[in-house]
Amino acid sequence: METLRQRILQVLEEAREPLTVDEIGALLRIPAKDRKRLYDEIAHLARTVERKSGGTMRIMYEPPRCANCGYVFKDLKRIRKPSRCPKCKSERILPPRFILLRK
Ligand SMILES: [Zn+2]
Repeated sequence: METLRQRILQVLEEAREPLTVDEIGALLRIPAKDRKRLYDEIAHLARTVERKSGGTMRIMYEPPRCANCGYVFKDLKRIRKPSRCPKCKSERILPPRFILLRK
């Protein structure tokens, strides 16, 4: 049986563009309310993939960005979608997008 992480990896392997957790969740038929936990799953998966591939495969992400002022959330301790912009207080935040890179 395939685990959720294996299925996420499969989606990322087939993706041509970076994907948000919403897009990954939709492809895996995960209900919207359960998609937030994908951030943790992807963080774990990223460590496993890098180790198992000997560093030839890597899950990278584009950091979340404020849709209003363009502020980029660069130094997140945990990858997620922040709820509001520290600069302009807007709640229109573009979520991080994940991509699998191969060397
Ligand atoms: Zn902003």
